[in-house]
Amino acid sequence: MLILGIDTSCDDTGAAVVEDGHQVRSNIVASQYEAHERFGGVVPVIAAREHTANISFIIESALETARISFADLDAVAVSHHQGLMLSLVVGVSAAKSIALACDIPLIGIHHLEGHIYSNLMGRSDELHFPFLCLTVAGGHTLLLKVVSHGTYELLGHTRDDAAGEVLDKVARHLNLGYPGGAAIEKLAKDGNPHAYSFPRPLMNRPDGEFSFSGLKTAVTAAIDRDPDLNQADLCASFQQAVIDLLVSKTMRIAQKHQLRQITLAGGVALNTPLRKALQHAAQEHEYQIFTPPRDLCMDNGAMVAGAAYSLYQERGPDPLSIAALANAPLGKTGIRYRHESKYK
Ligand code: ZN
Repeated sequence: MLILGIDTSCDDTGAAVVEDGHQVRSNIVASQYEAHERFGGVVPVIAAREHTANISFIIESALETARISFADLDAVAVSHHQGLMLSLVVGVSAAKSIALACDIPLIGIHHLEGHIYSNLMGRSDELHFPFLCLTVAGGHTLLLKVVSHGTYELLGHTRDDAAGEVLDKVARHLNLGYPGGAAIEKLAKDGNPHAYSFPRPLMNRPDGEFSFSGLKTAVTAAIDRDPDLNQADLCASFQQAVIDLLVSKTMRIAQKHQLRQITLAGGVALNTPLRKALQHAAQEHEYQIFTPPRDLCMDNGAMVAGAAYSLYQERGPDPLSIAALANAPLGKTGIRYRHESKYK
């Protein structure tokens, strides 16, 4: 089954062709970093304008790279839930047009399900339900028990900022540009992670609740206090605090709920020290860590098509009347969680 997956939920225009939910035949992403960089973050109206300019070309490129035409598609899938409203609408309109013109099923998915399924694609032999998923990105930080296809249990989330959000905000405070996570990771390589002792809020609490805003305040205050500070040391110490918070909570929740397989998803999953720290902690307890291929970590159409393949078997196609929704509950049980306020 050949599915065209489309994602325009935030600032990346993604289209991909995936066969039978796991074989990625193409995965094309147009990044908008340059358009947003001088603003230090995503500007919704600019994101929508860029999606509109790029979407047709990106879809055609995805088909061309997969060496297929519209007539070969069996279904079209799109992230219609969660993201920037104006951005989502561009992808949803394109997907509806294709479904109508080609007379193929339309499958709408929640953007987060794309991230969750980025770990399952091609790994259904080794990764089994239920498993724990830490999804960590600019818009959300969540610990989910993935019970079965489309069914999730919320085991933890952030009460304030998302992890990726604080990485971006601290990077902006240091004038490192956008996106911030990669810039901080690069500087942190040459720094001492013990140079600053930043707080790790809620780290020792037994539940899965995260908090990053106190850490962000402490780091930005340190920057304001000393204009000549060693940026490498500061970034290394800050990054270590974020990693400590994510890893300790994840391992605690995994143990508490006896989930021996742990997946990492979302843009912050690209952070190599985080991947290593989680791997190290898991090995100690003989738990298994799964991370997606790097090109499936950031927003992309392949994860949308991958998720859609499994969810389509469960619940069939969606009507052409599906609508974009900036804030949508997740999965069959309608989980609600905190995410960044930019999603309006
Ligand atoms: Zn995302």
